[in-house]
Amino acid sequence: MGFFGKKKPPPDQDAIWLYVQCDNCGEKLRIRVDRRYDLQPHPEGGYFLRKEMMDGRCFRLMYGELRFDRDYNILSQELSGGHFITKEEFDAQE
Ligand SMILES: [Zn+2]
Repeated sequence: MGFFGKKKPPPDQDAIWLYVQCDNCGEKLRIRVDRRYDLQPHPEGGYFLRKEMMDGRCFRLMYGELRFDRDYNILSQELSGGHFITKEEFDAQE
């Protein structure tokens, strides 16, 4: 009496993908952020994230700071050492 299809793994609902590019060498990175573990509640509501990222070419650290609303939409984003790009820009490489 079947719960068929239960074997299918759930989609990666906790993931937020960030796309960044290193200002030093131009390397593009895709960063997975986990809603449950990486985000912290912001005192004014929503969430915030501080994240260090490093590309595999020049190994320079980039520091990202992002704010999200309670529905995980990005309200603001800053990145030192690099800049944010779109998924389309990321996919366009090579
Ligand atoms: Zn780099």
